[in-house]
Amino acid sequence: MHNETLRPEATPDGAAGFVPKVTTAHAEGTLVDKYGRRITYVRLSITDRCDFRCTYCMAEEMTFLPRHEVMSLEECLQVASVFVGLGVSKLRITGGEPLVRKDALWLLERLGALPGLEQLVMTTNGSQLERYAPALRAAGVRRLNISLDTLRADRFKAITRIGDLAKVLRGIQAAKAAGFQRTKLNAVMMRGINDDEFVDLVRFAVDHGLDISFIEEMPLGEIHGRSGTFISSEETRERLAAHFTLLPSTESSGGPARYWRIPGSESRVGFISPHSHNFCDSCNRVRVTAKGELYPCLGQNDALHLLPVLRAHPGENAPLRQAIIDSMGIKPYGHDFTQQMDAPQVVRFMSMTGG
Ligand code: SAM
Ligand code: SF4
Repeated sequence: MHNETLRPEATPDGAAGFVPKVTTAHAEGTLVDKYGRRITYVRLSITDRCDFRCTYCMAEEMTFLPRHEVMSLEECLQVASVFVGLGVSKLRITGGEPLVRKDALWLLERLGALPGLEQLVMTTNGSQLERYAPALRAAGVRRLNISLDTLRADRFKAITRIGDLAKVLRGIQAAKAAGFQRTKLNAVMMRGINDDEFVDLVRFAVDHGLDISFIEEMPLGEIHGRSGTFISSEETRERLAAHFTLLPSTESSGGPARYWRIPGSESRVGFISPHSHNFCDSCNRVRVTAKGELYPCLGQNDALHLLPVLRAHPGENAPLRQAIIDSMGIKPYGHDFTQQMDAPQVVRFMSMTGG
């Protein structure tokens, strides 16, 4: 057991909260699961809410969590700092849409200052970037993944049900201007919905000096009609290869994507292929939902609930640390998504678990 120093501080979610200080003196020091995989990467969802309702991610009518069931920003910070104390060096802030969380910047500024956290990164739909990009960069967010499935305004509206493409494109420009390292676009591949735009999306990425990853749609949440739209990474890569020279790259972003380079450009084209190229062997990550559920695997339903631990021991790191260490015992070897896409193979939506 190690000692944490707690210091009271005014916080956005409460009049006075405790901000945990990370200590580097942790005897075991690392998180290793029962298969010997070392966990160095956490994806933390800070809200289940979103200003879009993407058809593959959410139902049209979503019921969001009541506020008291969502971790406060102080609790998010405490969870992140305990993970960092256990050797986690990369943290991705996600959601829902992380930038619709009130006072998200308060949290990001503190995360950006956590000793031992080497990479603070974020996944966003881009809708709020025009406003927040410079402040995010100043807070220490190093890289952004911005979701962009189409470059056509009407189609964008249809996929997101609410979103405004022009606003997102302005957000992408703001991210470029703010000087993030390697901004990456994420596009979910959907047959008959955006597959005629894959070439245009890659051209857009190349023209703007961005990376782009194509993601195989995953069967998360009760959404019907997925099976007709599934496209494998392999098919997309073959289709792109008719238009671009794609050179295999050994580079990795530390995630499951496999990358190709386009000669003469800075851009990399990646494929995230949970179906066709299982990446569980080298899994180095866990996810924490806005509700404080620690999911050791995106594709399984087992979770360890951190919120009761946090609230039973306010401001104390040791019980939380132990719960996180215990979660290693339930990290499964891997997911077993099949291509039977109509039935949800995991009952929660991606917006719950965080992408
Ligand atoms: N709102 C932010 C965004 O859209 O980037 C962050 C959260 S979102 C859940 C994270 C990523 O998950 C997005 O790139 C989104 O396209 C992807 N996603 C959501 N549902 C998915 C699904 N069923 N299969 C594959 N990717 C999905
Ligand atoms: Fe919101 Fe992101 Fe899900 Fe779209 S993919 S509904 S932007 S959380």
